[in-house]
Amino acid sequence: MIKHMKGPIPKTIEDRYWPKVDVRGPDECWPWKASCDTYGYGQLSVGSTRDNTARPVRAHRIALFLAHGYWPKKGSHTDHLCHNPPCQNPAHLEEVTPRENMKRGVGQVGDRIRARDLKLHSGI
Ligand SMILES: [Zn+2]
Repeated sequence: MIKHMKGPIPKTIEDRYWPKVDVRGPDECWPWKASCDTYGYGQLSVGSTRDNTARPVRAHRIALFLAHGYWPKKGSHTDHLCHNPPCQNPAHLEEVTPRENMKRGVGQVGDRIRARDLKLHSGI
């Protein structure tokens, strides 16, 4: 019996994360059921308000952490191969560089980077 601990035993990230995920088939998207940020990405608060380490973390980064056992590198982006921001299926997530992520994105930024890379690689 531990006497110095007061209040409920803090839950692990895993304990708090999974109840908020609608786990479906291995090829399906697993929607996030809790709060999302303005971009539609699921988020979960980690850390503690007691020691000021509490901060919101994008839920799909937690998905990668739980799937691989390490956090995505600082500065890296997590790409949704399914283009579905709230999706938590680790099979649909890939850690990429910010540049790679932009290139894959739709719209002008992606088009510009793709065009530049094409030039570089074709030697024009
Ligand atoms: Zn998905």
